Amino acid sequence: MDHRVESFMANIIAKNPNEQEFHQAVQEVAESLIPFIEENPKYKHAKILERIAEPERVILFRVPWLDDKGEIQINKGYRIEMNSAIGPYKGGLRFHPTVNLGILKFLAFEQVFKNSLTTLPMGGGKGGSDFDPKGKTDNEVMRFCQSFMTELARHIGPDTDIPAGDIGVGGREIGFMFGQYKRLRNEFTGVLTGKGREWGGSLIRPEATGYGCVYFAQAMLKTRNDSLEGKIISISGSGNVAQFAAEKVTELGGKVVTVSDSNGYIYDPAGINREKLDWLMELKNIKRGRIKEYAEQYGVEYVEGMRPWSIKCDVALPCATENEINKEEAERLIKNGCFVVSEGANMPSTNDAVEVFLRNRILYGPGKAANAGGVAVSGLEMTQNSMRLSWHREEVDQKLQQIMKDIHETCIKFGKEEDGHINYVKGSNIGGFVKVADAMLSQGAV
Ligand code: NDP
Repeated sequence: MDHRVESFMANIIAKNPNEQEFHQAVQEVAESLIPFIEENPKYKHAKILERIAEPERVILFRVPWLDDKGEIQINKGYRIEMNSAIGPYKGGLRFHPTVNLGILKFLAFEQVFKNSLTTLPMGGGKGGSDFDPKGKTDNEVMRFCQSFMTELARHIGPDTDIPAGDIGVGGREIGFMFGQYKRLRNEFTGVLTGKGREWGGSLIRPEATGYGCVYFAQAMLKTRNDSLEGKIISISGSGNVAQFAAEKVTELGGKVVTVSDSNGYIYDPAGINREKLDWLMELKNIKRGRIKEYAEQYGVEYVEGMRPWSIKCDVALPCATENEINKEEAERLIKNGCFVVSEGANMPSTNDAVEVFLRNRILYGPGKAANAGGVAVSGLEMTQNSMRLSWHREEVDQKLQQIMKDIHETCIKFGKEEDGHINYVKGSNIGGFVKVADAMLSQGAV
């Protein structure tokens, strides 16, 4: 490691002990940015990177709720308001038992760069709870969401902080939280995105992260005069992002052969066609079942306790969670001929795995760039809410495609190396940084 990065990281680790995911996310960015900042001393003197790595505000609260047996349960609630230099805080809420401060800080940190890349005026934030919606009844989820929002409501607002969904937070949870916010404030405003179509939501928002990740893969392939047509695709996860990535990539002529959940993965060599995908969506979104049932339904292989990266593919779309591709798995993907990785999930590759992708000079699109379509359409939802109108499906999809192309262009602008190779890690880190850093310079030492 570069000694400047090393000393910067020593300080981050000392100030934020036991937050491994946060250290990992900051290190990945620092490796791209520190050499750039050395060449641009205005950022160095104003300590922009040091400031960006410190949240503007961290809110931690108790979430008590009653389960169906009448027993009191207690969870932790969080909101990290990371950076508001270019717009109000914006970023999802995650409900998962693994949620802790370090995970939410890594997500909020990445969100600052991602939101800047979208070209829309959004700052960065993230929040959530260690509440596990799995195995809970709809009534329990509702009571939890109402209690969570009762506290969160005092910290957010359509011009202050606008949360959205993430792992464990979909349309159902957003609905319960929006209902409670409206009741507390007596205001119908766009305080959350990912809302239902009938009550202020944007068309294409549910699809946006998955579609955007595929549009980004398409843009990367185009630099090599190639396309998704006929490619074998391996996807991890089977939630919101995975489902719509599978839908779009199939529409564009690719064949999706894997999906997974936290218990294991299925391998369907014939491909997950429209009919199978509809079945999968019903299994996951309505019945809330396990991926193993797909294997039983279609008579294909199910591998318990493993991730899908040993399956041969051309394109990998990790769409489940952080650190789901390690060094060995990255090497295995490359050995099997995979040459495109477009990240639907946030930080799904460990820093060692990223290193493998960069060394092998594959088309590697990091999450900050590749999954920015979700927050971009959230930004479009905010615009529609402010204007009190809703755009057609085609119009939103067109804007999403344009934003993904623009993000790709930014990556080329800041990430193209002397020999013409595009380093998307460098491109997205520097491209996301410059706009936020310049805004911070203009706003003084705040
Ligand atoms: P969902 O809750 O809809 O789906 C998550 C999927 O990932 C499920 O299949 C889940 O399996 C699996 N998963 C979750 N945790 C783990 C784990 N620890 N190990 C293995 N599998 C796991 O979430 P989303 O699809 O919304 O989010 C997926 C990823 O995309 C996350 O990294 C998120 O931060 C990122 N993202 C999401 C955006 C959005 O708009 N929703 C925007 C940008 C990024 P199981 O059901 O077993 O838990």
